Amino acid sequence: MDECLEGFRLTHLTYFNIMNSAIWQGREDSSREFSNARIDYVKPAADELGLKLVTVDSNLDGIYRGFNYLATFTFRFFGTILALQKLFGKYYWSSGHTFSQFKLTIDDIAYFDLLSVQCLSNENTTFYSVGSEITRIEKTEYISDFAITYKFLNVCWSYLYNCGKCDKCRRTMLGLYALGKLNYYREVFDVGYFYQNKDEYLGHMLFMWITEKDHGYYSEIRRYLRQRYIKIPARAKMCAIKLLYNVTKKKIKRTMESLT
Ligand SMILES: [Zn+2]
Repeated sequence: MDECLEGFRLTHLTYFNIMNSAIWQGREDSSREFSNARIDYVKPAADELGLKLVTVDSNLDGIYRGFNYLATFTFRFFGTILALQKLFGKYYWSSGHTFSQFKLTIDDIAYFDLLSVQCLSNENTTFYSVGSEITRIEKTEYISDFAITYKFLNVCWSYLYNCGKCDKCRRTMLGLYALGKLNYYREVFDVGYFYQNKDEYLGHMLFMWITEKDHGYYSEIRRYLRQRYIKIPARAKMCAIKLLYNVTKKKIKRTMESLT
């Protein structure tokens, strides 16, 4: 918003409901209700920032039927922007990963955003991958300097408001805790519940750190905790061992079943 370079300043925000499909709960407009509620929720944030909010409701999902969301989501969003290319000269696409993590994979196409933004830009619209120069927790640290996020930060995968239980909510709360910023977010997260169940949250972090693959979200949270000399209690370690045990037990069960 403070960009000095002419033509690069943020003017609009977007919210796209591009998941409308019969595949979701068997109804063509199954995600519409949820999206409309989220639009109502984010609109005051756009107003407070003095930016226009552009919303799109589409059945685009129909052509992606049978494809995993993580294997298609960039193209869904970029396709929607290109339908409005007379409005959008530049589009800032928030990165999922850092430049150094670049790789070609269909498990999560955000890994090759750097290539996608080049391939899908045209003479009217240029896509930019933004935030790829820093890691996820560094982004969290960056946004935590803006008070508007204390009222509006919304990351939940499952619900309209942050549930505090899904992996995305847990990861964000743990990141804010590691940064010493969680207390600022009492309006959008149940911070009291976090502190009451801190060992369980930290156990989740240890479990995810041990089992996570390439993105490294939890390893950097752990690193930040260590930098702030925050000790992981034995109870949290026991929670992690319990989670690992349950996963291993399920794996052994599946292997035994496949052998019979
Ligand atoms: Zn959640």
